[in-house]
Amino acid sequence: MKSYRQELTFTVPTRRAFINITPQAEKALADSGIREGLCLVNAMHITASVFINDDEGGLHQDFERWLEELAPEKPYDRYSHNGYEDNADAHLKRSVMGREVVVAVTGGRLDLGPWEQIFYGEFDGKRRKRVLIKIIGE
Ligand code: ZN
Repeated sequence: MKSYRQELTFTVPTRRAFINITPQAEKALADSGIREGLCLVNAMHITASVFINDDEGGLHQDFERWLEELAPEKPYDRYSHNGYEDNADAHLKRSVMGREVVVAVTGGRLDLGPWEQIFYGEFDGKRRKRVLIKIIGE
């Protein structure tokens, strides 16, 4: 069995953003030379997510509004976590949106559904963050 590991880095200029990282995952898969197996993509930070959904702007606005209703950024003092930090909402948003995705690799391609795209969800940006891609197979 072969294995391949790569890190992506992001410094998002805003506090929150959704970034389509499907091209980077496809590039990593091509570089790995693996044809059959599994591709794991996970956020390496507890205030960021990796998830799969549609690349549609309206839906991303809906995610932003929904997450703000569930865990509003402000007022900061509503959260016990916010003593020296102000990112309690980002931890909660990350928990809702998830840590990682696993995609089947078939015939050297990511075996995604017709509208499935892989996203990095940033909830506490303006600093360097990492995403891990690990691919195993033959
Ligand atoms: Zn924190």
